[in-house]
Amino acid sequence: MARILVTGGAGYIGAHTTHHLLRLGHDVTVADDLSKGYRHNVPDGRLQVLSLHDRPALDALLASARFDAVIHFAASIAVGESVREAEAYFHNNVAGTLNLLAAMRQAGVRKIVFSSTAAVYGDPDSVPIPETAPLRPVSPYGESKLMVETALGWMDRCSGLRHIILRYFNACGADSQAGIGEEHQPETHLIPLLFQAIRTGNPVTVFGDDYATADGTCIRDYIHVCDLASAHAAGLDHLLAGGPSAIFNAGTGEGHSVRQVIEAAERITGEKVPWVIGARRDGDPPELVADSSKLRNQLGWKPAIPDLDDMIASAWDFDSRKHG
Ligand code: UDP
Repeated sequence: MARILVTGGAGYIGAHTTHHLLRLGHDVTVADDLSKGYRHNVPDGRLQVLSLHDRPALDALLASARFDAVIHFAASIAVGESVREAEAYFHNNVAGTLNLLAAMRQAGVRKIVFSSTAAVYGDPDSVPIPETAPLRPVSPYGESKLMVETALGWMDRCSGLRHIILRYFNACGADSQAGIGEEHQPETHLIPLLFQAIRTGNPVTVFGDDYATADGTCIRDYIHVCDLASAHAAGLDHLLAGGPSAIFNAGTGEGHSVRQVIEAAERITGEKVPWVIGARRDGDPPELVADSSKLRNQLGWKPAIPDLDDMIASAWDFDSRKHG
């Protein structure tokens, strides 16, 4: 059992990881400013409402318990928004993280699991993408995550802060038994938008069908959010056992096109998804698929829910409960 501070634990991936860690017997405290996350995502008594920009509050929290490690999710996450509000993204994602890292140093917390993103690769030369691929973000969001990765690399070398960096591909699905799932406001992610289209009859827009892929739509590597949670637990175990810093892709290694995701959603729900073809979305690379062999080989991780239909079924279950 370890004492873990989870920043952003009221958000989608953070909440699933928090529930997973509690089930494993860890003692978890969540720090979240509730700007995007939800109080109802955090089990009773675990939430501290605070902003990463509030250094005195961070110091007080870190002084209140001897945390063994921090898992740092809290960040702004919308690629399109980051293009419009670059300064806000660097402020939140970089300045907020530096504040956290300074508070951790002061409190003597020397281990961190950090949420990074496949967006650090930009438009890759080839897929599947290994961790050694060139890092060329094409959005302020991707750049903000890369800046933190770079800082963590130097802090590892210079001050012994050990990190596990997980570069997420496309998180989806839900732990509907635990009552948690994807609830972004506004929703921009494909799978919840497909359900919304089914429920409202308003067609979802497919962002381009003229890419150089088999059916012309973008290909992504969808990973169940509970499998992402278990990747965090594996990274944490590695650090707690005294393992060295490392960077891992977190995806299944399977690619699915937007059209294939729509077909899967129709199979699972038994409903037609109304959709129309629209323009390409800025910053969307044609194909992002992880080479996830490093995570599998070095941390012994394996997805428990590797099948896209099962991922969508869990998301549909959550969505259906939410809509009564
Ligand atoms: N997508 C789409 N229509 C939408 C939302 C998403 O066609 O309304 C596509 C998007 O272009 C991408 C894939 O679905 O190829 C997954 O997008 P999402 O926003 O869910 O995740 P991202 O890849 O941006 O992390």
